Amino acid sequence: MATGFVTHELFYWYEHGSSALFGRRPGVEPYLHVDTPEAKRRVRNLFEVSGLTGLLLPLDFEAADDKALLRVHDPEYVARVRKMSDGPGGDAGSGAWVPMGGDRIVRLAAGAAMAVADAVLDGCVANGYALTRPAGHHAVRARGMGFCVFNNVAIAARHALARQDVARVAIVDWDVHHGNGAQDIFYDDPSVLTISLHQDGLYPMGGGTMAETGSGAGLGHNINIPLPAGSGHDAYVAAVERAVVPALRAFRPDLVIIASGYDAAVFDPLGRMLAHSGTYRAMTGLVIQAADDLCGGRVVVVHEGGYSPVYAPYCALAVAETLAGIETGIADPFPEVADYPDQKLRPHQEAVIRAAAELVRALR
Ligand code: ZN
Repeated sequence: MATGFVTHELFYWYEHGSSALFGRRPGVEPYLHVDTPEAKRRVRNLFEVSGLTGLLLPLDFEAADDKALLRVHDPEYVARVRKMSDGPGGDAGSGAWVPMGGDRIVRLAAGAAMAVADAVLDGCVANGYALTRPAGHHAVRARGMGFCVFNNVAIAARHALARQDVARVAIVDWDVHHGNGAQDIFYDDPSVLTISLHQDGLYPMGGGTMAETGSGAGLGHNINIPLPAGSGHDAYVAAVERAVVPALRAFRPDLVIIASGYDAAVFDPLGRMLAHSGTYRAMTGLVIQAADDLCGGRVVVVHEGGYSPVYAPYCALAVAETLAGIETGIADPFPEVADYPDQKLRPHQEAVIRAAAELVRALR
């Protein structure tokens, strides 16, 4: 069965306004916003020139309607985003700029994730990839954060859970930043397992610790794996093998959604990790293998961050190739990074992964 694929030209038209890295600051000459369209446009381009796009099944999709958004977001917030979009734009929270006309684009991003989930659950495709922009994983119920306006993966999870055939959804977020949005939205909800691998103490500050395990009926259904800055291939793969996969196996999801950010990759300007395309390939393979056993391989990948226009596309290609079970023959043009000594698991990283594995065992 094929791998589904969605993207939309308007994703590459979304702009975060005048900036200098990720916001205007006194004393800094204005510069490009770090989330330029190029990182994702070049993903689309690489999928195309590698021949991968032609092997994926393009899926139709629509902008998410109010009903879909309101399963996750507050009505006042949804109305505020529309109002900003109808006017000159504005900040939907902290660092989540909605440009004029942006409401349609953020709804398309959510709709893209929903459409891939539907196609997977309907059995039209084995799995799928939503190449969306802007990202969504920082957005909480009533405000946007960190370039994210609506929480695409949370909206897709809620959309899936509204179906009769889905009782449990797992979200695996390996963007370098904490997946605080899904954690917040599903914190007391036992039907959604949220797992975030991220750089310890990066963004948002002050959260994403291992002590945050859910509350009420959702206790034990939120797992944070805050990896030390400088973690590389071995740390990421070990974390997925020893903590993420056991957590998935214990939870037995009907659908796995991967919030796939590429800012854990070595050349990213916002992260300080060393993952490379082989890391993303290995992590995707491990999650697919678990999903094969647990839910017929139903995996939806939703593109999140990743701000190296040159390198992020090779990591995304590795993920999409693994989903599709295809090797396009396009080699990672930076193979030397896989040989960096710090790709090896270091003792302080091992300690965190061991603690995460113990936490997963304790929560079962
Ligand atoms: Zn990120």
